[in-house]
Amino acid sequence: MSLNVNRHAVESLQWLDDKQDSMLNLIVELCDINSGTFNLAGIQKVRERLIEEFSTLGGELEVVESEPWMTVDDRGVSEEGKSGPILHVTKWPEAETKVMLCIHMDTVYGPDSSFQKCVTRQDGTVNGPGVIDAKGGIVVMLNALKTLEASSLAGKIGWEVILNSDEEIGSRGSDTFIRSRAGHCVAGLLFEPSLPDGTLVSWRKGSGNFAFIVRGRSAHTGRDFAKGRNALAALSRLCVEIDELNTDPDITYNVGRINGGGALNAVPDLAVGRVNVRVVDTDQQKQVEEKFASLVAKYNEADGISVEMSGEFSSPPKPIDDGVRQMQSRIESCGEALGMEIKWRGTGGASDGNRFAAAGLPNIDTLGPCGDHIHSDQEFLIPESLVPRAKLAALVLMSFAAP
Ligand SMILES: [Zn+2]
Repeated sequence: MSLNVNRHAVESLQWLDDKQDSMLNLIVELCDINSGTFNLAGIQKVRERLIEEFSTLGGELEVVESEPWMTVDDRGVSEEGKSGPILHVTKWPEAETKVMLCIHMDTVYGPDSSFQKCVTRQDGTVNGPGVIDAKGGIVVMLNALKTLEASSLAGKIGWEVILNSDEEIGSRGSDTFIRSRAGHCVAGLLFEPSLPDGTLVSWRKGSGNFAFIVRGRSAHTGRDFAKGRNALAALSRLCVEIDELNTDPDITYNVGRINGGGALNAVPDLAVGRVNVRVVDTDQQKQVEEKFASLVAKYNEADGISVEMSGEFSSPPKPIDDGVRQMQSRIESCGEALGMEIKWRGTGGASDGNRFAAAGLPNIDTLGPCGDHIHSDQEFLIPESLVPRAKLAALVLMSFAAP
């Protein structure tokens, strides 16, 4: 094998053999702290706890502010959004080969969700907010790094960790930092959960959110109906046209939300529609952008109606290219050394792996633990997957050591 998956590396993984309980305890502790994306105080608590843990690795830690980002509210007004900061850890910056490790601290469950605490089920699985998406992944990453740093290969691989606070809203505030660090490393390991049967994700669709702000003219429906220009009706026609673009399963348009209108005796002068679009490649992304531009132009021609669009593909598509193929065979070799069969599948979901890929960093983004039902109160973790996943990640890291 050309990879440096040697006997010493495999032997050093024994360090992990008795770590399942401590890993699980830390996951439960982190999940019991609410860190919904917009709960900045909760995210800070998680970050402080993780600073304690990651400090033990002996690298340089810094807390980097996220960038403010713009959003459109339901009245069509632009407002500034703010995400929590990023925890950035680096070690052995002088090493020849550097690897990026990344995962998020935020979850989709806000403080008002009824899903707040972990419960161990009768079958031994652990049900809790973020157990696999992605606090389980943080703990797998941490233990893989501890294993590396306790081994004779410590210092032969440089690494950096990015723990961001806003992945669940498309990393709006951490996108720039993520992309700025991509060029410092040769490969990326991300710790999103694997698919339920342990299959890893190969390609991912790109995803974009768009808002269409339609303005018309208000009028009393009894006195001046003819003077009114109905923004809600115009938006409805626009949304039907967008929905009818769903002819190719590779490109999906989901009209997800409409706001507008009020009193029934007034012609509505404002309506805002929101659409999520998923594409397989950048050609399709361009196609969508052109379609939307021409629809906006068409509706702007209507008398008394104006349409504005905001939004973008915040997660570009992540195709399988040569860099990804090399990563896949590296991971398969490491899996083989551990007696694991590695399977691959594409998915429509996006992750920060899409952002690193767009910035030129080949990466595999599902090295976290096994479980299922993310983004629901049925989210669960299979604790027996923790040690094997940490071993796989540690061995992949070690495979980058200079021979
Ligand atoms: Zn998620």
